Amino acid sequence: MVSEDLERVSADVCLSRGLGRSYGDASLPPEDQPNVLNTRLADRILSFDETSGAFRAESGLSLTELNRLLMPRGYFTPVSPGTSIVTLGGMVAADIHGKNQHKDGNFGDHVTSMKMRVADGSVIECSPTQHPDLFRATIGGMGLTGHILEVEFNLRRIPSQWIWQESRRIRDIDEFQDALEDAATEWPYTMGWIDCLARGKSMGRGIMMTGRWAESAEAPPKPPKKGFQPSLRFDWPSWVLNGLTIRLFNELYYRKQWRRKSSGIVSNQSFTYPLDAIHSWNRMYGRRGFTQYQCVLPREAGRSSAKRVLEVLTSRGGASFLCVIKDFGREGLGVLSFPRPGITLALDIAVRDDTQALVDALNEQVLQEGGRIYLAKDSFTRREHFEAMEGQRLDEFRAIRDRWDPQRRFRSAQSVRLLGD
Ligand SMILES: Cc1cc2nc3c(=O)[nH]c(=O)nc-3n(C[C@H](O)[C@H](O)[C@H](O)COP(=O)(O)OP(=O)(O)OC[C@H]3O[C@@H](n4cnc5c(N)ncnc54)[C@H](O)[C@@H]3O)c2cc1C
Repeated sequence: MVSEDLERVSADVCLSRGLGRSYGDASLPPEDQPNVLNTRLADRILSFDETSGAFRAESGLSLTELNRLLMPRGYFTPVSPGTSIVTLGGMVAADIHGKNQHKDGNFGDHVTSMKMRVADGSVIECSPTQHPDLFRATIGGMGLTGHILEVEFNLRRIPSQWIWQESRRIRDIDEFQDALEDAATEWPYTMGWIDCLARGKSMGRGIMMTGRWAESAEAPPKPPKKGFQPSLRFDWPSWVLNGLTIRLFNELYYRKQWRRKSSGIVSNQSFTYPLDAIHSWNRMYGRRGFTQYQCVLPREAGRSSAKRVLEVLTSRGGASFLCVIKDFGREGLGVLSFPRPGITLALDIAVRDDTQALVDALNEQVLQEGGRIYLAKDSFTRREHFEAMEGQRLDEFRAIRDRWDPQRRFRSAQSVRLLGD
């Protein structure tokens, strides 16, 4: 389906859906309006200026395809999430952030213009100067302001398809925050893995990864090869991932970094998209699946706020197989953009009977710290928690929606749960 077809689709069709890589219910339709408009076939590249990097494409273009076509020509997206299996529309709607958030902000900061189909059926262009309210509400607006048909942004020049990576073992959460802060002045890409089962003095121990594009002289002469991609073909039984196996995995992973520091050249694929190496990796969580809980804790909450949130997780026996830490440097452009200066924690949690209670407890702690959660990952937050976290930002978002979609034609299962749509 190309963008002209998207413009013509029935007015009854509501929510847009890209590649469905948001972890929660953001791209699922509400029960009473079960249609979604899938953008996957609207994926044409419309223009590309090799001198300036200015690029325009339909919103269903995937980052995998963009990388396949443009990395060999020396261009990369200014901001990338931890998977390339996303569409441009999904990247705008979630205002995604990457390992360079501390330096380059979010994807929305690099978008120069968008073509949209809004609730009354009209197709318009919006940008920081044309309908700026719609532009800001769409960036990070989780598809609730209309269909993004086309996205224009600036690609970055890269010297090679390889990354110079440094990994460093970190002893505890305080050292982690210091290390990320120091690394932010030197490295364009930073993030860390935390062993969130370690308690006491070792709480928050882990491995920090930093990276920069390898110069052509230091990179291997040939581009990285696409390696074998295994696939999980069935759901693992739920007992496979339990407190004990996760503890064992964490211990081995932590010890894998046996030198305090190591460095070398790796492919962009393995540095930026490690989880894409295994198809359907989510099946290891069994039939009940998992949820990801991602919050940001503002700088003003102080150093110990991350420790307090991890304590809520560990004291309730919430074992997270994958826990990622990253510092954010600045607030996003979107009315509801997730990042703000501070520390973000992302925890993958297998769904159990007590998951709702665990997310409630985490949200109460995050509220006390003055933080907020990431809508692209959420499926358990309660409306009252979300409203308390968002305050005035939510009032502004509602006012813009009132102007552009007073009848709330664009709704999702998530917006029913969190906004009462
Ligand atoms: C392994 C993995 C790693 C990830 N790492 C990161 C990360 O590092 N940083 C980060 O920020 N996120 C990360 N994410 C989340 C992911 O980047 C976002 O959820 C992104 O929005 C998914 O894009 P999608 O095309 O799959 O969108 P979907 O999941 O299909 O949709 C997401 C939202 O976008 C809306 N939407 C999609 N297309 C359009 C359109 N054309 N018009 C209007 N609205 C639209 C949907 O309605 C929905 O609200 C990760 C996800 C995975 C699975």
